Amino acid sequence: MEYSISTFEKLLYACNQNNKKIYEIMQEKEAFDFEISTEEVRAKTLKNINAMKDAIISGLCSSEKSFSGLCGDDTAKLKEKYKAAPALFGNLFEKITTYALATMEENLRMNKIVACPTAGSCGIVPAVIIALAQEKDVTQDDEVNALITAGTIGYIISTKVAMAGAVAGCQAECGVASAMSAAAATQLLGGSNKQIINAATLALKNVLGLTCDPVGGLVEIPCVKRNAFLAIHAITAAELVLANVESKIPPDEVVDAMVQTGQLMSPLLKETSMGGLATTKSGIIINRELQKKEGI
Ligand code: SF4
Repeated sequence: MEYSISTFEKLLYACNQNNKKIYEIMQEKEAFDFEISTEEVRAKTLKNINAMKDAIISGLCSSEKSFSGLCGDDTAKLKEKYKAAPALFGNLFEKITTYALATMEENLRMNKIVACPTAGSCGIVPAVIIALAQEKDVTQDDEVNALITAGTIGYIISTKVAMAGAVAGCQAECGVASAMSAAAATQLLGGSNKQIINAATLALKNVLGLTCDPVGGLVEIPCVKRNAFLAIHAITAAELVLANVESKIPPDEVVDAMVQTGQLMSPLLKETSMGGLATTKSGIIINRELQKKEGI
C-alpha cells in the first residue's frame, strides 16, 4: 500500500483511516516502496533484532578497551556493581543500562552493531527493546513490531533533518534514538498509536539542545554513557504516556523545534570537537595524549 507518512499527523491519519497499528502501516509502506512482501520486511527486521542481541551478548562478555584506551570496561564495572548491590529500580533498569553500555562498547571495539539511528546512539534502541522483551516475556513478533515502530519514528524525523551530530547536535542522534525507544517501549507495553507518538514526542522534547562535543573527536566521551542515560529516559516517556500524560506541543511542532534548534546551534557544538566537553581542560589533555599515541 502506498502511504504518505512524512509527518506524525499523516501517520496517525493513515492509522485511523485503516484501523491499523503504526508498525502495520510502516511495514506495508516499506513493502510497497521496496517492492517486497511484508513478510520480507519483517524478516529483515528480525535479522536486525538478532544482530542487536548478538552485540549485547558479546558486549556483556568483554572488557576490552577501545584503541584510544578511554572506554570499554564500563559494562564490566556495572555488572560487578549490580552483583554486589542490585539496582534501586530493579531488573529492568539493570538490563537496560548494561545492554546500552554493552552495545556501545562493541561499537568502539569496531565490532558489529546495528546503527539505530547512528553508531553513536546504537545502544539505546536495542537496550530498551531487548530488555523489555525479556522482562515482559513477549514473542519474537512483538519484538519485530516494536523495532518497526521505532523505525517509523526515526523515518519521520529524518524527512526533516539528517540524523547526524554534525547537522543538529546529539539531539539528532541519541535524542532521536531515545524517541524511537520510547515509541517501541510503548508499543511493547500495549499503548495506543496516539500514546506511541506521544511517547516519542515527550522523549524528543526533553533532549532539545543536546550538543555534540566528543572528546578527541572520538565517539566515546560522552557518547558511551549517554546511551545508558537516554535509554532510561525513553522508559520515563513510556510510563508517562501510559498514564495519559500528553505533550502540550504536538509532535510535528516538536520536530520543527528540534530542526530549528539544530540550525541555531553553534558549529563548535556540532561534532567539530571545538567546544563543550571537548575543550574542557581535561578534554584538551586527553586529546593531546591521543595525538601523541597516534604520532601526530
Ligand atoms: S555526542 Fe556526538 S558523536 Fe557522540 S553520540 Fe552524540 S552525536 Fe554522536
